[in-house]
Order: sequence, then C-alpha cells, then structure tokens
Amino acid sequence: MPVYEYYCDKCQREVTFTLTISEHDKGRITCPKCGGKALRPLLSTFVSQTSRKS
Ligand SMILES: [Zn+2]
Repeated sequence: MPVYEYYCDKCQREVTFTLTISEHDKGRITCPKCGGKALRPLLSTFVSQTSRKS
C-alpha cells in the first residue's frame, strides 16, 4: 500500500499513513495523535530536492 505523509498543524509534527488508494480518495484522514483534521499533505514528489533524513 502507498504511504502518505502529512503534517499536523496541531501536533506540529509529521504523520505517516499507509492507506489504500480508495481510503485516501475518501479523504477521511485524521491525525492519529490528536484526531484533528488539520493535516497538510507533504508532497513526496519534491522530497528529493530537500534530501532525505538520516
Ligand atoms: Zn495531530
């Protein structure tokens, strides 16, 4: 399954989801920490420009 990375504005941290395409398309994504929906998608297609961690 594809991995989606989001940034939670409430927790101020990145959260990673492993979702099926259909789950992602439903858009019902909430932060597992705070349950909030203030999630901004991190566009992994641009990650290569900022290098990877570790
Ligand atoms: Zn959160």
